Amino acid sequence: MRIFDITFVFYFSTMLQTVRGMQDIFGEYQRYFTFLKKVARHEFRKNGFTRISTPVIEFEELITRSAGNSSDIVSKELYSFDDRKERRLALKPESTAGVMRSYLTNMLDESQPVYLYYIEPHFRYDRPQKGRYRQFHQIGAEIIGEQDPVLDAKMMHIGCRMLDSIGLKGEYTLKINSLGNEKEREKYLLDLRDFFENKKHVLDEVDLARLETNPLRLLDSKNPEVRGLLEHAPKMESYLKGESKEFYAKVKMYLEILGVPYVEDHTLVRGLDYYSHTVWEWVDGSGRTQDAFGGGGRYDGLSKSLGHKTAVPAVGFGMGCERLIEGIMDRGVKLRNKDRTHLYIIQLGEGATKLALPLNIAAQEAGLNSLISLGTPSIKTQMKKANRLGATYVAIIGIMEAKNGICQLKNMELGTQREVKLDELVPLLISEVDKKELDFYSPMKDFVIEEVIRPEPIMPIHEKMDNNEKE
Ligand code: AMP
Repeated sequence: MRIFDITFVFYFSTMLQTVRGMQDIFGEYQRYFTFLKKVARHEFRKNGFTRISTPVIEFEELITRSAGNSSDIVSKELYSFDDRKERRLALKPESTAGVMRSYLTNMLDESQPVYLYYIEPHFRYDRPQKGRYRQFHQIGAEIIGEQDPVLDAKMMHIGCRMLDSIGLKGEYTLKINSLGNEKEREKYLLDLRDFFENKKHVLDEVDLARLETNPLRLLDSKNPEVRGLLEHAPKMESYLKGESKEFYAKVKMYLEILGVPYVEDHTLVRGLDYYSHTVWEWVDGSGRTQDAFGGGGRYDGLSKSLGHKTAVPAVGFGMGCERLIEGIMDRGVKLRNKDRTHLYIIQLGEGATKLALPLNIAAQEAGLNSLISLGTPSIKTQMKKANRLGATYVAIIGIMEAKNGICQLKNMELGTQREVKLDELVPLLISEVDKKELDFYSPMKDFVIEEVIRPEPIMPIHEKMDNNEKE
């Protein structure tokens, strides 16, 4: 019986937890989330992007072919499983592969390039810690169908503008590098491998594996000894030839024209294998460990890795929403609470409810966030609720007030109370509440109402004749 009890308790205690590395997003955190989405939507819309959502589940092969088998997200972090028909599927660890899949199947006939952005959940079996979760969200964008260095610079510009506008101006560094084209990278990798060949004793297990599968990832090593060695290792920059060199130079030129400050980091590589030419990262300047707000790059070879016959040039970036939110919260950025209740109506008895219901609707239609306490809780309970909501005003309609068409209006911030006629309440509050806080959204405003073109009425023949006669 005892064993049963423990199992029982264990069963329920795990059932009520979130899965490790996954979190509920509610309250204040959700407010930051909404804010980020709004900033992203504003910035992308202004720059001609439209939003795309791709499924959370994709075929595993799409992910492995795009990110590469040697990448951490495929080799260690993928949530993959068979469905009931034994198809190999995965929860998406990033969205670029899905967006490219969608582009190749749906958008080849559209005018090119195609500008897309997304705000999506991603899943990686990472070691959870602050800023690193197993379910996290990214705001990202892709420009697909054109190879021009100005697009790379423009993407970085847009990302910087977003960071600046959420309160991170001066708080991050944009690091850039070029990985050249495939040929140049191959040559570089051979030399890099050679360089580390007689220094293997310095490499730990992870770095040894990287040396075997993708030596480029050694540039990402956190081991200080390896980082020291990298100072003397061959640099990708000197492997860039003709077109790649020119491409990179133009990216920098456009960044300067756009007034985007950057630093070059010749050891910068990205976690996914599909990048070529430009790569970049926005690094948190506060020196914390999970230090990238986001990153991006050019991935002209991805379409071919996914089986498309030609290489479709593309460039994109992704930013971690949780990192951005924690970054601005840590810096004390506070957001206005738009969910604030302006008016909380307390009613006591049926007579009061009858008056409170239309009053509440009138207040909402006038733009106030107005709530009414329904049911039969005591006045004390209702006041507690008003306090918890942080209501600015509370209108109390008791039995006597209902009879006289009035309410007791409490200003919760000042602690004052006055008697107000019910039909004067809404105009009074409108005159007192900050106009910026009023909410006038009406879904009808978003309808496109086509003007109905009515056919000309057919005139009876004798009327027509009459008209002709008049002319
Ligand atoms: P990546 O797709 O790996 O280039 O990541 C782009 C950005 O997403 C990073 O710079 C982080 O801001 C964020 N990110 C990546 N992995 C995680 C994670 N496990 N948890 C939270 N944010 C993440």
